[in-house]
Amino acid sequence: MFNSVEKGKPIEVFQLNRMFLEDPHKNKANLGVGAYRTTEGKPWVLPVVRKTEIKLTQDESINHEYLPVCGTDAFTQAASGLLLGEQSKALAEKRAFGVQTLSGTGALRLGAEFLRKKLGRTIFYYSDPTWENHHQVFTNAGFETAKTYRYWDQVNRQIDFKGLLADLSEAPEGAVIILHACAHNPTGSDPTQDQWKQIADVMEQKRLFPFFDSAYQGFASGDPDKDAWAVRYFVDRGFELVCAQSFAKNFGLYCERVGNLTIVQKSSKTTEAVHSQITLLVRAMYSNPPAFGSRIVSAVLNDPQLRQEWMDCIKTMSSRILQMRAALYGHLTRLNTPGTWNHITEQIGMFSYTGLNEKQVRILIEEFHIYLLKTGRINMCGLNESNVEYVAKAIHCAVTR
Ligand code: PMP
Repeated sequence: MFNSVEKGKPIEVFQLNRMFLEDPHKNKANLGVGAYRTTEGKPWVLPVVRKTEIKLTQDESINHEYLPVCGTDAFTQAASGLLLGEQSKALAEKRAFGVQTLSGTGALRLGAEFLRKKLGRTIFYYSDPTWENHHQVFTNAGFETAKTYRYWDQVNRQIDFKGLLADLSEAPEGAVIILHACAHNPTGSDPTQDQWKQIADVMEQKRLFPFFDSAYQGFASGDPDKDAWAVRYFVDRGFELVCAQSFAKNFGLYCERVGNLTIVQKSSKTTEAVHSQITLLVRAMYSNPPAFGSRIVSAVLNDPQLRQEWMDCIKTMSSRILQMRAALYGHLTRLNTPGTWNHITEQIGMFSYTGLNEKQVRILIEEFHIYLLKTGRINMCGLNESNVEYVAKAIHCAVTR
């Protein structure tokens, strides 16, 4: 029976990671994986997370009963509050609420399931390029038509804003538009506030539905409010929308699968019905969310002292990334590497879209043991004081070959 099953395509980012782990070369560098690394190139458990998890494991009042299907109020209110702001009118008026999900991916899938099955949406748009999973999350949820909107101008290494607006203005009414809330993956280039206003204008006129993906709040700029600006702006303008939130990066809780789907409606009158339908969707997919990671996040966000410690941690992460951007840029310009490299310091978040082509990427992997995606996307966290010069010299060789 299983003979008819064809082997699926490997997932590039995980395949790269395996190649990196198996490579014995002493100067190898992993710029592929989407996770934070310390100056020593190690994964980082945020001290406030370590402290909180130890406390939780010693708390005898905690048991392993099922959580509610949509998660605990302590978690979802803190998560949606982080996104929309503690003073959010939409939250106060109970027309916005959150649902705990299996990290950011689970929130995208749940949102897509809801829009497809309960609101009959069939068309979605994603930026070209985007995080490689958007396409299959939405099509697997039953969306029939996948379309792209222009995002990246490869020649000038910046957003193709004219192309973006033109494509959105041609989208049919009701289309679901995936928007990266901040730190666009993979380009690291976000619209300016003025550009967001123009995007909102077109989406309002064309009655397009915003589906924000917020995987880097706080991690991108070090300031969670700043990183939530676009989402809050759309809410203030009166859009109904959903937003997928991930706590993988900003809490370093990758494997714990902590996420939240925030739903913003015009009126609280629809909250009960929407919540009940989402409950049924979750019940049929995985029944209840996992508890451990969400307990950590809610304990930290709901305690002013711990929350401040977390803010200090996200500053540590985001400023290390900025230092590495400056260091890589400095080495490349000192080497007079052909091309412009300003985009490395201008882009934000963990990723940089270097502009390297597939041939250059192959040289970096095969000759220099530097692993990166074939689109030329690099994770700045894979750089540190001891390898940044080696990486810059390798890029120089690949570009001048
Ligand atoms: N969206 C984007 C844009 C991402 O970069 C990621 C993580 N790579 C996610 C969603 C989801 O990640 P997770 O499911 O691990 O929270």
